[in-house]
Amino acid sequence: MKAVCWQGIGQVGVEDVPDPYILNPRDAIVKVTATAICGSDLHLYDGYVPTMYRGDILGHEFMGEVVEVGPGVSNLSVGDRVVVPFPIACGNCFYCERELYSLCENSNPNAQLAERLWGHSPAGIFGYSHLTGGYAGGQAEYVRVPFADVGPLVVPESLEDEQVLFLSDVLPTGYMAAEQCDIEEGDTIAVWGCGPVGLFAIRSAKLLGAGRVIAIDRYPERLGKASAAGAEMTVNYEEVDVLEILKELTGGRGPDACIDAVGMEAHVRGVSHAYDRIKQAMRLESDRPAVLRQAILACRSGGVVSVAGVYGGFVDKMPFGAVMNKAITIKSGQTHVHRYMRSLLERIESGELDPSFIITHRLSLDEAPLGYEMFRNKEDECVKVVFLLVPRPSVASPISIPLS
Ligand code: NAD
Ligand code: ZN
Ligand code: ZN
Repeated sequence: MKAVCWQGIGQVGVEDVPDPYILNPRDAIVKVTATAICGSDLHLYDGYVPTMYRGDILGHEFMGEVVEVGPGVSNLSVGDRVVVPFPIACGNCFYCERELYSLCENSNPNAQLAERLWGHSPAGIFGYSHLTGGYAGGQAEYVRVPFADVGPLVVPESLEDEQVLFLSDVLPTGYMAAEQCDIEEGDTIAVWGCGPVGLFAIRSAKLLGAGRVIAIDRYPERLGKASAAGAEMTVNYEEVDVLEILKELTGGRGPDACIDAVGMEAHVRGVSHAYDRIKQAMRLESDRPAVLRQAILACRSGGVVSVAGVYGGFVDKMPFGAVMNKAITIKSGQTHVHRYMRSLLERIESGELDPSFIITHRLSLDEAPLGYEMFRNKEDECVKVVFLLVPRPSVASPISIPLS
């Protein structure tokens, strides 16, 4: 089969690889119909996540048709159309029982590697380095889905792939980022980053009752989508002093909660950017935490900083004095996708949410190298790349009835 493989820093290629097969009784094989590139894939592409090997199959946002199930999977049938959550979770362990699926204790066969870096291991993740299990990803024609009796969500035929695909990751991720803010009616929420995660965080913050959302980025097309998602105000961080403007907009107090939807590759001009870039390049600092610093400083006392952006290792010059003295609560995590899929699907079915508005580029799998490059460099106003492997006939297309 064909699959998108990591070939080194800044290089991906479409390669012929062996088809996956059922390894364990609880596996299923899914024929992928649609898959997308995530901001997290860019951290792999740019070489900031260790333990990527040449030939690793990428991709953790995917959906498709079940073509085979192991003897331990009784809730899925061949032919079911499913969206697959990006963390792999067993459904039975300490964390799964508490619905903290991205912390599953049984799905990362390389847990000892992660423990060395983080103390404990998170769940396994599709296509996301050997640190999180070395699983083959879903930017491929077929994928093996472990614990398939727990993760995949069957979706109705009435909805298009483009409407439900993002249940696999970025929609629940934006939702969890907003939920972590403990929003009270009328709160002001600031969101750094208007990529797919930030856009869904904005939309979710509004659904959860935020009075005002302030969106921060530098690309006009992304700020435009932020307004469409519900942000009352947009801030171009290249034009103004973000900390100053947030103070001004909140009577000096600061936003009630701040969402970091940027992560370890934050871009900032000036001395502090140079400092982080150099330290990151020299491996003295694994992540560039410019947005995290700003969010902590901007947040009102007693507020929440919700971190959806991915960080991998160590950050420098963290204003922890501000966290302590302002009584800030920091919440973070890989998303517990399984927890949110069903309720978000209901919102899509009812028409309350249409996640497809983030898509700017629809490509074939063969065009993956181009897709990665465009998304990485934010060229051609690229916000989200989707690879469509099997175009579905549009369910909305009228049936033509011959007149005679
Ligand atoms: P993206 O690359 O499309 O978006 C990132 C955005 O941040 C860009 O629009 C960029 O212009 C903006 N940005 C960069 N520097 C900034 C700054 N200083 N101030 C404000 N904005 C800035 O990526 P995405 O798909 O939206 O993902 C965003 C982050 O979320 C990534 O770190 C990704 O790894 C992470 N993520 C986390 C989870 C999770 O489970 N927690 C899931 C999916 C993605
Ligand atoms: Zn992702
Ligand atoms: Zn588990």
